[in-house]
Amino acid sequence: MLGGGQLGRMAVHAAQQLGYRIAVLEPDLNSPAGAAADEHFCAPYDEPYALKQLADRCPAVSTEFENVPARVLEKLSERCFVAPAPAAVAICQDRALEKAHFAKAGVACAPHAVLTSLADCEAVAAAGDSPLLPGILKTATLGYDGKGQRRVRDRAELMAAFRELGGVRCVLEALLPLAAELSVVLARGQDGQISSLPVQRNWHEGGILATTVAPALGIEPALIEQAQASARQIADAFDYVGVLCIEFFVLADGRLLANEMAPRPHNSGHHSIDSCTVSQFELQVRALAGLPLPPVRQHSATVMLNLLGDLWFDGERQREPDWASVLGMSGVHLHLYGKPEARRGRKMGHLTLTAPSGAEAAALAHQVAQRLGLPCHA
Ligand code: ADP
Ligand code: MG
Repeated sequence: MLGGGQLGRMAVHAAQQLGYRIAVLEPDLNSPAGAAADEHFCAPYDEPYALKQLADRCPAVSTEFENVPARVLEKLSERCFVAPAPAAVAICQDRALEKAHFAKAGVACAPHAVLTSLADCEAVAAAGDSPLLPGILKTATLGYDGKGQRRVRDRAELMAAFRELGGVRCVLEALLPLAAELSVVLARGQDGQISSLPVQRNWHEGGILATTVAPALGIEPALIEQAQASARQIADAFDYVGVLCIEFFVLADGRLLANEMAPRPHNSGHHSIDSCTVSQFELQVRALAGLPLPPVRQHSATVMLNLLGDLWFDGERQREPDWASVLGMSGVHLHLYGKPEARRGRKMGHLTLTAPSGAEAAALAHQVAQRLGLPCHA
């Protein structure tokens, strides 16, 4: 596994449940996945000797974050089975390529333009009433959790934001009136067979996922089906192998647009560990090992609440949140990632709340959120 974060940690747990041994390549000595792995290669992702060791030891390699250099995956694929494929990861790393891929798959996305220079910024805003303004300027690569993005109202703000983001290649998207945000996590095997989690509904705060609800509360069944079908089209269009997450926007007029995708398990699919017959992490391991991918059945309605480092702060003082105040309730599943230090905005863990019905899961989530002082959008 390339990468030592919480996604890698949960994949390690799933692999070990199936009896596999798993090695993690991660430069940080104290990482969530490194601590759980059977072996931890503590080195930069492109360190040749570590990559050789990894290739010597591992018949199959996956990644838990999309910013691993694509050439590293290519190098490894000379000696190991690598899923997702380096070319697919390269597309997911770049918002411009990603949007071109949505178009190839026949799935609509936000109106946008690719900007590589201040002249491009001027040209796109020249008309005075550009359809892309007000908009969101996003760096084409390396953005996550709302980082590398600026909201811009007019040409002056666009030029300033482009400079602030370092003058790198960017995508300017029209600022859309969002009625809801959805995501689909699916796994596609080498034979092209697809297993998908139920469609999730997501709420973000400050660009970071805060709440996920599944099944997606208050969304028309036709839209749910459209999201599943679009996600499949997107996966099929690059013969994808592994776990893929597609984020969607639902607009005020009911249209569904693809937002972005991640070539790995996704924060919005964490609930599957506790709410489904197979988790997104087990699907990742199975796809990597060439094992069958079963249909996913959701056995419990669920709400997932992210636990950010902010919860560890009482003013300036740091303390452990009062887990005992919620762990006595039925259907409360606490997941902590073992990060050595809480920081504001840092993902420290999540809570999955499960119940027989959506209404009960939402009621439980509100009760738990209130006791801990968490936001809850369910
Ligand atoms: P990240 O890689 O940081 O997740 P996203 O492109 O998903 O980047 O943007 C983060 C969040 O910002 C989205 O989930 C959504 O809430 C909001 N957002 C992004 N693009 C738009 C847009 N074009 N119009 C309205 N809101 C947007
Ligand atoms: Mg996103």
